[in-house]
Amino acid sequence: MSDPESDDEPAPADAFAALSDPVRVDILDALTDHHRDEGPEPVGFAALRRRVGVRDSGRFRYHLNQLRARFVERTDDGYRLTATGARVAGAILAGTYTESVSLGPAELDSTCPFCGTPAVATVQDGQCVVSCAEDHPLFSWHVPANATTDATLSEVVALAELFAFQAIEQALAGVCTQCYDSVETTIGDPAEPGFRAVCDTCPARVAGPISFPLLVDPDVASWCRTHGYTLREDHVWEFPFVGDDASVEAVDARGTQSGADADDGDTTVDGGELVVTVAIDDDSLTATLDGDGRVVAVEEN
Ligand SMILES: [Zn+2]
Ligand SMILES: [Zn+2]
Repeated sequence: MSDPESDDEPAPADAFAALSDPVRVDILDALTDHHRDEGPEPVGFAALRRRVGVRDSGRFRYHLNQLRARFVERTDDGYRLTATGARVAGAILAGTYTESVSLGPAELDSTCPFCGTPAVATVQDGQCVVSCAEDHPLFSWHVPANATTDATLSEVVALAELFAFQAIEQALAGVCTQCYDSVETTIGDPAEPGFRAVCDTCPARVAGPISFPLLVDPDVASWCRTHGYTLREDHVWEFPFVGDDASVEAVDARGTQSGADADDGDTTVDGGELVVTVAIDDDSLTATLDGDGRVVAVEEN
């Protein structure tokens, strides 16, 4: 656990301040180029200064020192990016050289499970949003601009779905997808079940139906595959138990179908666990989720 107030842990403001001068961003850029060309070998002071194009060596050293420790490390042979420096450089450069892409709105080869009208996708300001003529929210996820260059709308949607499911798996492992701090997952209460992972450190947030953690479980995924659904080939909103809440049915602690009505949820909680029944066609599967959303038991009915 990191304590933002502790003295040996630099405050986020200090990290932002360290990047506040264009020369320092140019230094990260030059070290990134060097890393690409030469691998992790450090680059000497003079060579780095020439790459960045600063003539005044005192001024250059001052800016380089502002990046030391956190973003740049000094070895006996010169300077190189730290692991954090490489990630920060990646994040800055990802948005620097790529124009934001706008695609759609356009219909996908898919229909809305709620109303049957075609699913419509839009990519704007780095966000991929899928909805329908009736504005049913089907899917929304962030896609960085440089990942969308030259891609078609359906390729971007597929990529966004891949990112979303990687984020769910990473959140279930207790790690934030953006800042790698520890993150807690929750599944809500029976009246309002839903999968959530909200980072305390950065703006990362995963929120979706209770079926999200089920879809990435190997046993559930393999059962879905035998019923003709795979995450790679089908959109997340096309899985019958994702789009249609009614097919997620409540089962009480003794395993009896409760026949709960749709209004008060389709799930029960037993000691923080949640038992959901997932149905495709005439078959169903009962999965038990612990309070963190991890699948602890799967049973075919
Ligand atoms: Zn709809
Ligand atoms: Zn985070």
